Amino acid sequence: MTASTITSTDQEFVRRAINNAVENVAGGNRPFAAILVGADGKIIAEDTDRTALSGDPLSHGEVNVLRTGLQKVGFEAVAASTLYVNGEPCAMCAGTILRSGVRRIIFGLQGSHVGPYLAGEPKLGERYASAAIFAVAGENISVTPGVLEDEAHRPFKAYVARTAGPR
Ligand SMILES: [Zn+2]
Repeated sequence: MTASTITSTDQEFVRRAINNAVENVAGGNRPFAAILVGADGKIIAEDTDRTALSGDPLSHGEVNVLRTGLQKVGFEAVAASTLYVNGEPCAMCAGTILRSGVRRIIFGLQGSHVGPYLAGEPKLGERYASAAIFAVAGENISVTPGVLEDEAHRPFKAYVARTAGPR
């Protein structure tokens, strides 16, 4: 597992994912969003975590964009793309990423920082351990954590503020 050099374009896509995650929270969903960007720099798919409203626990942003991307542009184009996420992918998504062929992943808030925001929810302590899954891919995958880390707290703070109050 290696790390990428981060460009201003990479930062903009992470920022976009952060903003999408904030909107997702405002819409009653969980604080996660993902964007799949092709080698040409154009967005192939962007989506959010829709587990809260759909009732489908597999409906994470990463899974959603990878499924859409594979259907839309096929395996080779997806393998050449970059996946941006506002927070660290969970273990399920890390496995999905490996199966999808994507080799460049860039995300905002690291799981160790995400965990406390979701501390009231069951089993979340271990759910963000994506590093062990990504390690399976060895040097074939580039995972860069902590991009725009300060901004990346926003959706989680919004989520805590929304879920802590009266429903
Ligand atoms: Zn996930």
